[in-house]
Amino acid sequence: MKKKKKLTEVIEPRVLRRGEKTREQIVSEWEPKTQLGRDVKDGKVKSIDEILEKNKKILESEITDALLNLKSDLLSIGQSKGKFGGGKRRAWRQTQRKTQEGNIASFSTLAVVGDENGHVGIGSGKAKETLPARDKSIRKAKLNIFRVSRGCSSFDCFCSELHTIPFTVKGKSGGVKIILMPAPQGTGLVVANELKKVLKLAGIKDVYSKTFGKKRTTFNIVKACIDALNKTNPKQLRKEIKK
Ligand SMILES: [Zn+2]
Repeated sequence: MKKKKKLTEVIEPRVLRRGEKTREQIVSEWEPKTQLGRDVKDGKVKSIDEILEKNKKILESEITDALLNLKSDLLSIGQSKGKFGGGKRRAWRQTQRKTQEGNIASFSTLAVVGDENGHVGIGSGKAKETLPARDKSIRKAKLNIFRVSRGCSSFDCFCSELHTIPFTVKGKSGGVKIILMPAPQGTGLVVANELKKVLKLAGIKDVYSKTFGKKRTTFNIVKACIDALNKTNPKQLRKEIKK
């Protein structure tokens, strides 16, 4: 069991180190293929909010790399094999397909990226090996980035820092429902462990939460959380007011 424990611990920091080291490299080696990408590289578009406000689709992950200093993390959606039902949580979900030649394994993973300052995105990737799956999921997460509003709005906190969400939001995915509520400073993140990674990368420090449904399905609970956070998105808010 000890060996398996090491496996996840070694892989995760490597993701961060790799991302940090090559951000400049990625941007300088990048040859944009879309008009939006060319505008970003030429410096015509200076902030990610300009793109998100205009509802433009980001088709190149380098765009978000160029405009934001991103950190990434993998969420534990799978489990390593263990006897008697005791598999340890692991970043890779391993599945198998049976063929005449034998079993073919494939790995999927769920990544979250964020700048710890109001931008966050998730993406899932699937491949025959672990590392391509990780790269795919991080790339997709960068394409799915969106803005989260933050504020100080808890009734018993009167600071002016952006440390929690501006109001109570609900999110849903599959059978899982989640309610996120503003909290005063110093509360910390009162949420499931995997959600802490998401909220931290979004730049939210204090929040209360309530969940309903089968919470052990990490995939759904993360999606529900993203659904809830998306409701603080200024763009989404305007849509709801119009309704
Ligand atoms: Zn406050």
